[in-house]
Amino acid sequence: MTDDFYCDEVLSGRTPVDVVIETSTVLAYHHTRPFWPVHIVVIPKRHIASLLTLQAEDAPLLAEMVQVIQQVAEQVVAEHGAARVLTNLGQYQDSKHLHWHVSAGDPLR
Ligand SMILES: [Zn+2]
Repeated sequence: MTDDFYCDEVLSGRTPVDVVIETSTVLAYHHTRPFWPVHIVVIPKRHIASLLTLQAEDAPLLAEMVQVIQQVAEQVVAEHGAARVLTNLGQYQDSKHLHWHVSAGDPLR
């Protein structure tokens, strides 16, 4: 078990994913092991460890990522009437690659 599922499995193509939105720098896809009934993950295609390691020079990437999060969240709200957007840090962050959860519904487990 690696601590960077996104670089090692998703961005490498080893684990196939169901893409929601893809740009040149950002990928949004349906979580492979969802925690909520609607659970989409948004990640930068370039390795960034977490929200806390974002640098000033990442601003263009961050802007694109926020646009993708916004589009995904807009779609989830339109379909389900609600959404939450979150990113985990420290011990709450399982995989050490920045990722945003866009979800709706009650936890599945
Ligand atoms: Zn990574």
